[in-house]
Amino acid sequence: MTSQKPKHLRVAISAPVKGTFFYAVPKGLAPTVWVGCRVLVPFNNRKVTAYVLEEIPGPDLSDQNLKEIVDILDAEPLFLRQTVPFFEWIADYYIHPIGMVIRSALPEAYFRTAHLTKKGLAVLDSRLFASEESELLSWIKDHPDKRLPWPLKKLYPLQKKGWLSIESRAKKEVITDSYELKFIRPKKDVDLETALAKRAKSSKVKNEVEFLSEIFETGTVLLSEMKAKFNNGPYLVNKWVTKGVLEHQTVSVHKSPGIANILPPPSPHTLNSHQVKALDLIKTYMDKGTFSCCLLYGVTGSGKTEVYYQAVVHAIKSGRQAILMAPEISLAGYLEGVFRSRLGDRIAVYHSGLSNKERYRQWMRMVKGEVDLVIGARSALFAPLPAPGLIIVDEEHDSAYVQEERRGGPHYQARDAAVVRAKMEKALVVLGSGTPSVQSFQNSITGKYHLILMPDRVERRPLPDVEIVDMKGVRNAWGKMEMISPRLRKALNENLTAGNQAILFLNRRGFHRLYLCPRCGQAISCPNCDVALTFHLNEDRLICHYCGFNSETKVRCPSCSSTKLKAYGFGTEKLEHELNALFPHARISRMDADSTRRKGEAFQILKRFGRHETDILVGTQMVTKGYDFPLVTLVGVISADLSLGFPDFRAGERTFQLLSQVAGRAGRGNQRGNVIIQTFNPDHYVVRAAMAHDFQSFFDRERELRKALDYPPFSNLACLRLQGNNKKKTEEAVYQLSSDLKSILNRWPRRGKEIRVLGPIEAPMARLKGKQRWQFLIKSRSVALMRHLLVDLERSSLKMLRANGVHLISDVDPYDML
Ligand code: ADP
Ligand code: ZN
Ligand code: ZN
Repeated sequence: MTSQKPKHLRVAISAPVKGTFFYAVPKGLAPTVWVGCRVLVPFNNRKVTAYVLEEIPGPDLSDQNLKEIVDILDAEPLFLRQTVPFFEWIADYYIHPIGMVIRSALPEAYFRTAHLTKKGLAVLDSRLFASEESELLSWIKDHPDKRLPWPLKKLYPLQKKGWLSIESRAKKEVITDSYELKFIRPKKDVDLETALAKRAKSSKVKNEVEFLSEIFETGTVLLSEMKAKFNNGPYLVNKWVTKGVLEHQTVSVHKSPGIANILPPPSPHTLNSHQVKALDLIKTYMDKGTFSCCLLYGVTGSGKTEVYYQAVVHAIKSGRQAILMAPEISLAGYLEGVFRSRLGDRIAVYHSGLSNKERYRQWMRMVKGEVDLVIGARSALFAPLPAPGLIIVDEEHDSAYVQEERRGGPHYQARDAAVVRAKMEKALVVLGSGTPSVQSFQNSITGKYHLILMPDRVERRPLPDVEIVDMKGVRNAWGKMEMISPRLRKALNENLTAGNQAILFLNRRGFHRLYLCPRCGQAISCPNCDVALTFHLNEDRLICHYCGFNSETKVRCPSCSSTKLKAYGFGTEKLEHELNALFPHARISRMDADSTRRKGEAFQILKRFGRHETDILVGTQMVTKGYDFPLVTLVGVISADLSLGFPDFRAGERTFQLLSQVAGRAGRGNQRGNVIIQTFNPDHYVVRAAMAHDFQSFFDRERELRKALDYPPFSNLACLRLQGNNKKKTEEAVYQLSSDLKSILNRWPRRGKEIRVLGPIEAPMARLKGKQRWQFLIKSRSVALMRHLLVDLERSSLKMLRANGVHLISDVDPYDML
């Protein structure tokens, strides 16, 4: 009998090494090796884990004297053949070792255990003399759930005989918290007419018809909602369940940090005309069965979730699967609630908020084809689905989609990568947002993406009034700058008196301090790069961390010549303090990275706010995400300038998104909302556009600026980061790399000019954790050319870097250059 199984494998080593490698398979192991399994291979005199990417059946490689794999580590594949090209694309585009890409995509490590089958037990009982086989069997019998101490190749033959079965277990058996949502819904095959016919003729219950019609109309309704809405709710529910018309449904949802979980998922709605139109377009593109990308630009509150839901249903009906990505775990949790209550169990969740065991379980369900829809954050991008037909990226503009290089995993932009994956899967990708990213909107203009508009809030709830307060000249009695203007103070007062809630938002990222002219409001920017200069306390200088331009701090304001520039930077803590002094009777709480360090803290803060146990919530960008607090009628932005002056070419874009999102927090209930934005730059185009809810005018201006300065989407960026322990050696390496760069570019006389290298400069947080950090910024209109340069550079300087003990990271499409 000849086996069709492979003689050779192409594998990715689970370590930071570039490229893939070939190995031979010894005869005994061939029948049990699959693409997607981990294997143990000899590599540089060690045995290391590797992932099987390809089986090569023929004898083509047999003359190469390949080394043999040592063992197979998995009884079943961990990923699918179809996903391999996508792993390879990530590795290639983001210049990262493929083994590390795969390692970071897969759920945490796990181990193998085995248990005996009936047959195995019988064999063990019938053996009279000890043999190696019976020793194995008896160890397994005595050690349920323990890690197997032998190479698996010893056990596969026994599994084949049906004596035992091998399983994988997550390392830590943590119980995932989940909670239950209770629903009530009509039983299958019962319609309203039938139900009404079952009413006793003499029934005196007045609201019964209303009660039943509501449930039949919406399908599935939260039990608590129905009980609260009808004063005889509990009685009605009970009665109609007994009559066999309604039934209970319990849905368990994974707990994740965030308020979203506290809120009940909304009941289904009949789509309005914009939603219907959007859905029709989405269905049309999906039915083509080829790749396309839709940008669903629907203002906050336009009802995008409902469109996502119907789109997912359509994908599933067409026999394919869907991935739904959210920027935050808490939003993913909210979406999970919505979808699980309606779609049932063929849903997986995948994000870092789950325990290892749960992540592993969810992942394996996908591999085995038990899942139609995966909901998650960034990492759901790699979901091992056999034939995804729809990928939805909700809040596509959110920078939380950027994964920074972490624990050996790659840096990537999950939204961009989702588009690539969709292309590979011949799927439709839907990017949804109320404030699209400049990049995606530009793509919709050039026709790369199809633009779908949902311009109205559902049920015509009005957008809030946005008011701008000019902070120039706002001083207290001692002539000092104030955090809370008289206008905002008055509004807060009125709001408290009316018994409503307020959110005050202060966007201050890390150590960043803005150097600002208090007279005209201008932040000092780099003359070359037009990004704000960063104030370096140690050197007392202002530095551009794109190009390295620097200046002393005692400069004249370029627009009004004032010499009274000041470092402007205060935190949420100070704000909370001032508020307590101003409103001694108000209940104030603060939500930022400091106050939420303990697990579950953010959840508690939001929960108390949701129950109106707090009047004013002070917070950083954490508070801007899509939560719904109906009693919030006032939102204050303490300083739009802190965000506008952030040293990043996307500062304007981020501020616009932020202000729009913040504004979206006000007036979600029945009362009209009010937004007050404090700023030194009341005439800034970003502030103006946000006030008018005018994305288009923001975009037009922003686009011109980007074009003029050659920033994305009109060019591509990469950031080369160098990091070493020794100051002198690191500086040497930086100098050498810089000259390597020049000589490569000189070798390309014509095309070399299409690339600009800025730097090297010492990273703004240069001596972070005792490391020496430097960076270069590289700009080019051609992605291919830039890649070429980066790959060349890594190759030619590898030895030199290693000799100096310096680590080089190439961040393609960087988002944070601090
Ligand atoms: P978005 O994500 O676009 O900001 P959501 O999907 O959160 O908006 O919807 C906002 C609110 O409108 C939700 O409470 C949702 O239940 C409700 N909603 C959605 N579609 C409809 C509809 N067709 N009719 C009435 N309400 C709707
Ligand atoms: Zn000035
Ligand atoms: Zn510069």
